[in-house]
Amino acid sequence: MARYPGVELNKNNRPEKCFECDNEENLVDSKFCMICGKMMINTCTNKEQCNHVGEAFPGNARFCPYCGKKATYYEKGYLKQYNKNDAIVDDVTNVAFNAITDDDIPF
Ligand SMILES: [Zn+2]
Ligand SMILES: [Zn+2]
Repeated sequence: MARYPGVELNKNNRPEKCFECDNEENLVDSKFCMICGKMMINTCTNKEQCNHVGEAFPGNARFCPYCGKKATYYEKGYLKQYNKNDAIVDDVTNVAFNAITDDDIPF
């Protein structure tokens, strides 16, 4: 399994604090910071055509998963351009192999 790192968000796909003013008091469904008014969520930028604008995507989404246009975190530069070397690969095969130790072999 390969994953890509991104901006760390809480389970509601919101950052713990505002990128601009560091305000940590935000509503669970905030879209904008209550203090400085800055957009907080990673969402679609395709206001004209996409009806997922305003939905909070995961912190590593560079593009809208529904229309393929840029997501806000990528547009604002919070996320770097995609680079295959950044992928975090969970090597499942290796883990399974290492789990078998000498103790498991009965002879
Ligand atoms: Zn703020
Ligand atoms: Zn979209």
